Amino acid sequence: MAQVLIGLGANLGDRAANFYAATRELLARGCQVIALSPIYETEPWGVTDQPRFLNAVCHVRTDLAPTALLDTLKEIERSLGRQETMRDGPRPIDLDILLYDDLILDTPRLTIPHRGMVDRSTVLVPLADLVPNLCHPITGRTVEEHLADLGPTPDVAPYPPGLPAKRDEK
Ligand code: AMP
Repeated sequence: MAQVLIGLGANLGDRAANFYAATRELLARGCQVIALSPIYETEPWGVTDQPRFLNAVCHVRTDLAPTALLDTLKEIERSLGRQETMRDGPRPIDLDILLYDDLILDTPRLTIPHRGMVDRSTVLVPLADLVPNLCHPITGRTVEEHLADLGPTPDVAPYPPGLPAKRDEK
């Protein structure tokens, strides 16, 4: 089975409930869900005039090939009410394949590792909670090293507010 890290984002509806529903849908479609990271509230990327997002990362094991997994994620997004909107626009759920074993893939439909992952605190903070020492297959650097490169990440706050971030507990 492949080890996969899936990025979750949501800024419409009951955002946290959408994450749990997506996790249940992954299970129902034969993925083994190993862990869901802590959830963070984050400032929107790209299109900034929209509600704040929640972001998290889910670690799964699956027999699905990368393109079949992407099809499954798109089905889950639709089943949770996602409609085609502008790029980086508001959505009840967004599911991205961040890493799939140490696969490197670049096709018109699917790029793995996910293209934006090393620049985005919204991805790296929850990813570092789950797999800080995992190496990015292209850069050869760990998730924690990529996160350190970004410096402070005030745009990513533990959710619900008031909970300490996992990385602050040490
Ligand atoms: P999104 O707006 O995040 O739903 O992504 C839009 C499109 O990005 C999808 O329909 C995919 O074809 C494409 N895409 C490319 N690489 C990835 C990836 N690693 N994970 C998810 N979608 C991807």
